[in-house]
Amino acid sequence: MVERRISTDVLVIGGGTAGFGAALGAAQHGARVRLVEGTSKIGGVMAFCPGMPWGGGYPTGRSIGGVFGALTDRLSAMQPPKAEVRASTLENFGYEVIYDHEAAVFTMFQMLEDAGVEVHLNTYVGSPVMAENRIQSVACTDRTGPFTIEAAMVIDCSGDGDMSAKAGVPFTVGDGRGNMMGVTLSFSMLNAPWKTVFAKGDPYFEAEARAGIAAGRLHPDLAKLYLMRGFHRDTVFCNSVHIRGVDGTDPQHVARATQEGRRRCHQLANFLIECVPGFEKARMAELGPTVGVRETRKLEAMHRMLARDLAAGVKPLDGIVACDNPIDDVMRGGADMTHDAIVAAGDYYTIPFRSLVPKKIENLLFAGRLVCADPAAFASVRGMPQCMAMGQAAGTAAALAMASGTAVQALDAAQIVSALMAQGVRGIGGEGLSHHAQAKLA
Ligand SMILES: Cc1cc2nc3c(=O)[nH]c(=O)nc-3n(C[C@H](O)[C@H](O)[C@H](O)COP(=O)(O)OP(=O)(O)OC[C@H]3O[C@@H](n4cnc5c(N)ncnc54)[C@H](O)[C@@H]3O)c2cc1C
Repeated sequence: MVERRISTDVLVIGGGTAGFGAALGAAQHGARVRLVEGTSKIGGVMAFCPGMPWGGGYPTGRSIGGVFGALTDRLSAMQPPKAEVRASTLENFGYEVIYDHEAAVFTMFQMLEDAGVEVHLNTYVGSPVMAENRIQSVACTDRTGPFTIEAAMVIDCSGDGDMSAKAGVPFTVGDGRGNMMGVTLSFSMLNAPWKTVFAKGDPYFEAEARAGIAAGRLHPDLAKLYLMRGFHRDTVFCNSVHIRGVDGTDPQHVARATQEGRRRCHQLANFLIECVPGFEKARMAELGPTVGVRETRKLEAMHRMLARDLAAGVKPLDGIVACDNPIDDVMRGGADMTHDAIVAAGDYYTIPFRSLVPKKIENLLFAGRLVCADPAAFASVRGMPQCMAMGQAAGTAAALAMASGTAVQALDAAQIVSALMAQGVRGIGGEGLSHHAQAKLA
C-alpha cells in the first residue's frame, strides 16, 4: 500500500470553537491550514449541545470582537437574523449570544472555506512523530485508512489533549486530584409557550424539580432544572442533565454516560410535559448526539492562570482576550453548581498568550478547554467566545512563528497582540474595552 503523506503549514487538531478560531487566525495570516475533526460536524461541545448560548463574549457589556464578533455579526445580519444578544438569566453572567444552531454551524464551516482552510471531518489524529523538541508529523486515520500529516506548526484544540500528552507535554486532570466537572446531555422542548413556561421567573424551576425528585420521577442531581428560552420562539433549551464522575478521555465512560444521559433526558421531558405548566403540548427535539465534556486535561504551559490573579483583574502585556465570566463550576467531585463572580463588577481580566505555549515543544500551541489554568481559573475562562479567541491567538502566533522560523517560546508577544488588534480583537494591548463605545450594548 502506498503511504499517504500530506504536508501543511499549520495543522489544527479539533474543530470545536477553539479549532475554528485557530484555523481562521492562521489562515488570515496567509498560512496553509488543515483542520482535522474527529466527528462529522464543526463545533465540538457546541455541536454536541445544540443551541447552547455563547456566554462571556461581552465583558462589561462590550464585545471581545475578533472571530467571535465576526461570526455573531454575520449571523445577526441575516434576514431574518439568526443570532441575537441577550442578558443571561443567571446571576454574574453578562450578555450571551443565542443563535440558530444550524445556521451557526453552516456559517462557521463557510468562514473556514472562505479562508481557504482544508477541513477533514470524521478523521482522527493519533500519535506524533517527534524530532527532538519539534513535532515532525502526526499519524491520522480516516475511513480510507491511516495517513500522515507533516506540519510546520501544530495547534492542539482537541479539548482533551491526547496528542499533546503523547508528545510529552505534562498535564493535570480536572482539579488536580482527578475530579472533573460533570458532563451534560442537552435537549430542547418545542412548542412550549414562553409566556406560561417562564411565568414564575425562576430559571432553575426548583419547586418543580423538588416535586419531581420527591415523586421519584427525576434523578436527585436534577435539583436545578436550568431551562432557558431557545433562539426560536416557544423553544426551551434544557442544559441540566449532568452526570458526575465521568472521565471524558475514556470513550467507554463517555458512551455509558451518554446512554444514562438519554435516560434522564427522556424522564425529564416526560415530567415537563405531564407536570409543568406550558409544556402540555411540547415535544422533545435536538437531543445531543453525545454528552458535552467540560473538563479533562489541562496542559502545562509557560504560564498557569491562577484564580487569585484573575480576581485582581490582571491585564498582562501578552493578554489576548478579555473575560469576566464567573467561576462556573459544575459538580466537580461531590460539589453542586456554582457561578460566583471572579472579578469586581465593571472589571475584567485578560488571558495571557503564555498559557497557550508549552514549555519545551517549539512548534506546538494549544487553545480552548485544555488551556493551562488552576481549577477555579479554568471554570471562568472556558466559555466559547474565549475559546474562539484563544484559538485565534494561537493561529495568529503559529503563522507568525512559521514565517519567522521562531520557536513559539521566543515569539514577540507584542507582535501577536497588535496582529490580533488589527483583526478586531478588543480589550487587549493596553486598550480598555471601554474605548470601544461602538461595541457597547444598549
Ligand atoms: C454541557 C456544557 C455546557 C456549557 N455551557 C456553556 C455555555 O452556556 N456557554 C459557553 O460559552 N460555554 C459553555 N460551555 C463551555 C464551552 O462549551 C467549552 O469550554 C468549549 O466549547 C470548548 O471548546 P474547545 O474547542 O476547546 O473544545 P471542544 O468543543 O471539546 O472541541 C474539541 C474538538 O476536538 C475534536 N477532537 C478531539 N480529539 C480529536 C482527535 N484526536 N482527532 C480529531 N479531532 C479530535 C472533538 O471531536 C471536538 O470537536 C459548556 C460546556 C459544556 C460541556
